Amino acid sequence: MRGSAAVMVVMTPQASEAEIAAVVARLETTGVHVLVMPGELTTAIGAIGDPERVSELGLEGLAGVDRVVPISRPYKLASSELAHHEPTTVAVAGRQVGGGDTFCLIAGPCTVESREQTLAVAEAVKAGGASMLRGGAFKPRTSPFAFKGLGVPALEILAEARAATGLPIVTELLDAQHADAIAQHADVVQIGARNMQNYALLEVAGKLGKPVLLKRGLSSTVDELLMAADYVLKEGNEAVLLCERGIRTFETATRFTLDLSAVPWLKLHSHLPVIVDPSHAAGDRRLVEPLSRAAAAVGADGIIVEVAQDPEAALCDGPQALYARDFATYAAGVAAHAALLGKRVA
Ligand code: PEP
Ligand code: MN
Repeated sequence: MRGSAAVMVVMTPQASEAEIAAVVARLETTGVHVLVMPGELTTAIGAIGDPERVSELGLEGLAGVDRVVPISRPYKLASSELAHHEPTTVAVAGRQVGGGDTFCLIAGPCTVESREQTLAVAEAVKAGGASMLRGGAFKPRTSPFAFKGLGVPALEILAEARAATGLPIVTELLDAQHADAIAQHADVVQIGARNMQNYALLEVAGKLGKPVLLKRGLSSTVDELLMAADYVLKEGNEAVLLCERGIRTFETATRFTLDLSAVPWLKLHSHLPVIVDPSHAAGDRRLVEPLSRAAAAVGADGIIVEVAQDPEAALCDGPQALYARDFATYAAGVAAHAALLGKRVA
């Protein structure tokens, strides 16, 4: 039943018949299907129907109600349970992301710093077999005094790199006021981890008519990631790529903790493709290849990885960037792991 969901209202052991009848009556005002299940100790009342309207009834506050237990998952459009059963395949400039046959390798600098740097990395990742080029024009920086990207001139450099290599461009939308410029140049609009809960920006991204790569927030659960995806999907944009990029845990040895369990979990509970960012998770280029291989082996639909010609000189995220000269060997290793699951890099 598309769009339907269920809740269970558990009554206290002391609840009276009148209190049970009052809950049933309130549920029935929304037109949901109600089923009363008397137990030995307590009575449970099941309701199947529009979960939005049920959640607006304020059942938790009614006399005799112990708790209201949602049976359905809180995300709707991103869920494999309610909206779709087949995995979604996202088309990006003639390439297919997701669907089980292909593995998408997105590579490039953290940030566009200059024309020469960007074109050199673009050529190197193209030669190494990358599927798309990444590069930030507008950067979310923890300190307001750090380099924030070149802005619109960077988008023009990315367009030139696209023309030179044929690689589609993935770049971040940081602020709604840049939406038109980003939409003009990006093939995939990235929403950064720090903006996963910027719901107004998610709606703007959903309206651009471009695929959206949605990064998981630093401290967000996978449920919250899928509800954020719902914000984009509800704008009629079905082309959403979920991205696991590491989360905050007690562990500080790595920059973040790459949650590899999220990959098969998301594949199970959502129909959307799942991409892994090992660079921001690790913060250390020496960990990037093993984590990338693991991501491919655990079923990711692709990787987004940072690569630099001269990481020592990079203005942002140098320590985690792969050397461009190592990219082809790296890509071959990842492709071999993707091949174990019947996927070819495309
Ligand atoms: C990035 O891709 O360069 C970036 C800033 O990523 P995140 O939003 O995951 O930190
Ligand atoms: Mn970065």
